Amino acid sequence: MADPYTMGWILASLLGLFALYYLFVNNKNHREASLQESGSECVKSVAPVKGECRSKNGDADVIIVGAGVAGSALAHTLGKDGRLVHVIERDLAEPDRIVGELLQPGGYLKLIELGLQDCVEEIDSQRVYGYALFKDGKDTRLSYPLEKFHSDVSGRSFHNGRFIQRMREKAASLPNVQLEQGTVTSLLEENGTIKGVQYKTKTGQELTAYAPLTIVCDGCFSNLRRSLCIPKVDVPSCFVGLVLENCNLPYANHGHVVLADPSPILFYPISSTEVRCLVDVPGQKVPSISNGEMAKYLKTVVASQIPPQIYDSFVAAVDKGNIRTMPNRSMPAAPHPTPGALLMGDAFNMRHPLTGGGMTVALSDIVVLRDLLKPLRDLNDSVTLCKYLESFYTLRKPVASTINTLAGALYKVFCASPDQARKEMREACFDYLSLGGVFSEGPVSLLSGLNPRPLSLVCHFFAVAIYGVGRLLLPFPSPKRLWIGARLISGASGIIFPIIRAEGVRQMFFPATIPAYYRAPRPN
Ligand SMILES: Cc1cc2nc3c(=O)[nH]c(=O)nc-3n(C[C@H](O)[C@H](O)[C@H](O)COP(=O)(O)OP(=O)(O)OC[C@H]3O[C@@H](n4cnc5c(N)ncnc54)[C@H](O)[C@@H]3O)c2cc1C
Repeated sequence: MADPYTMGWILASLLGLFALYYLFVNNKNHREASLQESGSECVKSVAPVKGECRSKNGDADVIIVGAGVAGSALAHTLGKDGRLVHVIERDLAEPDRIVGELLQPGGYLKLIELGLQDCVEEIDSQRVYGYALFKDGKDTRLSYPLEKFHSDVSGRSFHNGRFIQRMREKAASLPNVQLEQGTVTSLLEENGTIKGVQYKTKTGQELTAYAPLTIVCDGCFSNLRRSLCIPKVDVPSCFVGLVLENCNLPYANHGHVVLADPSPILFYPISSTEVRCLVDVPGQKVPSISNGEMAKYLKTVVASQIPPQIYDSFVAAVDKGNIRTMPNRSMPAAPHPTPGALLMGDAFNMRHPLTGGGMTVALSDIVVLRDLLKPLRDLNDSVTLCKYLESFYTLRKPVASTINTLAGALYKVFCASPDQARKEMREACFDYLSLGGVFSEGPVSLLSGLNPRPLSLVCHFFAVAIYGVGRLLLPFPSPKRLWIGARLISGASGIIFPIIRAEGVRQMFFPATIPAYYRAPRPN
């Protein structure tokens, strides 16, 4: 088997380099074409008040809108660095959601960097050591390459709300962080600079708050991002969420991915007694829960495809009826740099949740931003700060774009298709990962955020495609098989290149060629 792989690697690398060149040349025009002013209903103009010296008169240094994963981690981080932080969160009660329940080990490393690792303690979180893949009765285990790390480092899975409450408590325990319940209704703008926010308190009072920097972390349904980015949101599918009780997964402490028809099904523990099941349903519409169509769909289409060990718990969970749905959104980061404001978390950038990468990207972005802001004592010169922070968009790319691209590409490869070439790609992907060694370790390092390198991603992706073609052509190629092989390569290119283009080829592969990469702070 070794020879075809070596050939595959060489061919994949050549193809990858060629494709990168092609994309690099085309990307410039594409970005220029898509850059247009967005609507800004969520922004209100404010007249400057004579003599007002806002941030220096006891107002916050930073306003953070939303205290979810990104907002609460950011509040603690900036608070720890001595900033006066005012967080405004719509609902301070413990969230009960089906999102953000598996933190990849790369995200856990970021939690450590931020000093927040204790937030996964005392919430009955579970350690995750890798994934198990299931396809047509076969299964394979893909372990995270954790050997080089401290024994504490692994993935963690938990109830999202419990994790968020721990981070909120930790942020609010700092004397310079004010965490307030309220709904931000608009950003306050003055001569093109965001000066603060208008918000409604718990009691319905309309208030304004001012700060030299407002960081919007209002999540995937963000109402405030429109003036700060070009939001191109795609909703390829929805997740249907169930909780399986007292069930033993075939591989303890592993995420489970079933390559089902029409699309993948996930299982992972979220406490010592509960397993989260997320069933992907392609498209934006799901069967109705209220009229029983969803339960029928889950029992007739889905149940027969899940591993037999968890079949009974799955059916019991459907019968219990606590079924939730959530759209799976993806949105490349397309910022519209604005003095006085920044976007973070899902408000800024989203990817398909198949690979559980959202929290890792958000935490990684916070580390980048923290390091950029650290040398600045004063944030008042908004225009200079905005120029300086343009480097954030480039510095975050290696991690964010690898995780985003992998999520989008893997989702497409893992979906069932009547097309023979797509079927071959899916089969090749499962078998490639099953080979073990570098063939599973490389992709799992990317997915886990432990070693997110864009070029490695492209190489593995095309190695899978070439592995698929090799299997088609060996030992005896036929014209039909040659044709399927050609379509497989073109299909693989059609999956990955549009995602890479949306991420920005130059920022992703050649960040050091972007001037903002080197932007240094002015001493103040
Ligand atoms: C189905 C699904 C499953 C997922 N699973 C995973 C996973 O396993 N692992 C993973 O890493 N990622 C996962 N993700 C992605 C992950 O959930 C997000 O990346 C992460 O939650 C983003 O954090 P955030 O702080 O940006 O948004 P959120 O955590 O959603 O927080 C936004 C906060 O803003 C508040 N807010 C909103 N509007 C306002 C307003 N106007 N004023 C004040 N406050 C406001 C909200 O109340 C909320 O608290 C999943 C996503 C989906 C859709």
